[in-house]
Amino acid sequence: MAILETMTSKDVIALEDKHGAHNYHPLPVVLNRGEGVFVWDVEGKKYYDFLSAYSAVNQGHCHPEIVGAMTKQAQTLTLTSRAFYNDVLGKYEKYATETFGFDKLLPMNTGAEAVETALKICRKWAYEKKGIPENQAEIVVCENNFHGRTTTIISFSNDPVARKNFGPYTDGFLKIEYDNIKALQEVLEQNKNIAGFLVEPIQGEAGVYVPSENYLKDAKALCVKHNVLFIADEVQTGIARTGRLLATCGNCSCADKHCSGTPEVKADILILGKALSGGAYPVSAVLANDAIMGVIQPGNHGSTFGGNPIAAAVGIAALEVIKNENLAQNAFDLGELFRAELNKFIPTSSIVNAVRGKGLLNAILINDTEDSSTAWDICMALKENGLLAKPTHGNIIRFAPPLVMTKEQLLDCVAIITKTLKKFEK
Ligand SMILES: *Cc1c(COP(=O)(O)O)cnc(C)c1O
Repeated sequence: MAILETMTSKDVIALEDKHGAHNYHPLPVVLNRGEGVFVWDVEGKKYYDFLSAYSAVNQGHCHPEIVGAMTKQAQTLTLTSRAFYNDVLGKYEKYATETFGFDKLLPMNTGAEAVETALKICRKWAYEKKGIPENQAEIVVCENNFHGRTTTIISFSNDPVARKNFGPYTDGFLKIEYDNIKALQEVLEQNKNIAGFLVEPIQGEAGVYVPSENYLKDAKALCVKHNVLFIADEVQTGIARTGRLLATCGNCSCADKHCSGTPEVKADILILGKALSGGAYPVSAVLANDAIMGVIQPGNHGSTFGGNPIAAAVGIAALEVIKNENLAQNAFDLGELFRAELNKFIPTSSIVNAVRGKGLLNAILINDTEDSSTAWDICMALKENGLLAKPTHGNIIRFAPPLVMTKEQLLDCVAIITKTLKKFEK
């Protein structure tokens, strides 16, 4: 097909600009190949991927085990819908629930769909189990959250770009400050109709904001006390990204020696997406125990593609790679190294104020005003030097490479980053 012939980056960008909706502002790089921690542009230039598709490609690009499982399943059976059973979904549900330590899993496709699913489960539980009067349930969320792009989810966003002119908004959400345990305590004490607390263990989009040490543990304890469901959105933080299988690692069976295994931070409802497929396919899931998931009955919720055999096969393979290659451990070790190396550089630098993060979910804070283009300009320079990253809100650059990176590669990346930053010294 003529339309699929090789094109230059410039041509591809012009094509998208003309025929595609302008709902993103990508870095001007056009990729056509990926392998492990690397991607290549259409001109053949090689880059370190330091974003991993927002933490979807934790297992590395085109991981052979994941692609193999996907290809094999694609040649056998792709979709039945849930009108019938397929012979892979149950195996995947068993594997994933045992991995994360929950009774049941509800399969969806995208992160936003899984968040919507969790909200529905939480509301139904509130009316049928907690006894909140009909249509009165409230769900507490945090300021500067990112949970996706649906009408309900943007209703409780406070990002004006995501929200403005998309009203009327969905009711039933109360917003409190993130990492403020007093604010959670107050809202739970004042309002008897609270069904759940939806939280990101680290706020990724907001700029990799890591809450204080005991925040999640104390929040979970408050939820228990007030019979409120603790809903963890681990779409970005989950699947080994932060140096553990989950950032809220409860009683899961991960063999990671760094896992605190503190059961008090186990979510009542766990939301996963992104790396649940290693970036090969849209796979998301909501996990909960029977007392909660039991409220969902036939007809209450569903998705034509959710739980399809390819997604199920990919999901098993993607989780196996995480375990077999010890990626939680690797993310932990490389994360410590990354922050230590940058912390050596920062005191000598006038352009970076700080590095923060957990495991391989990190960010640097650029020393410039929020509305300046410095973070973008640095990302453009990093691209020239063979490393791809993207600014998040304000002047913050997120660094989230695939977890299959080696120590040598990571040090190579640190050298690229510091060399680039030096060009921006004031
Ligand atoms: C990416 C993300 C989502 C939304 O996932 P999509 O697959 O883009 O719908 C939800 N929550 C968090 C924390 C995310 O990072």
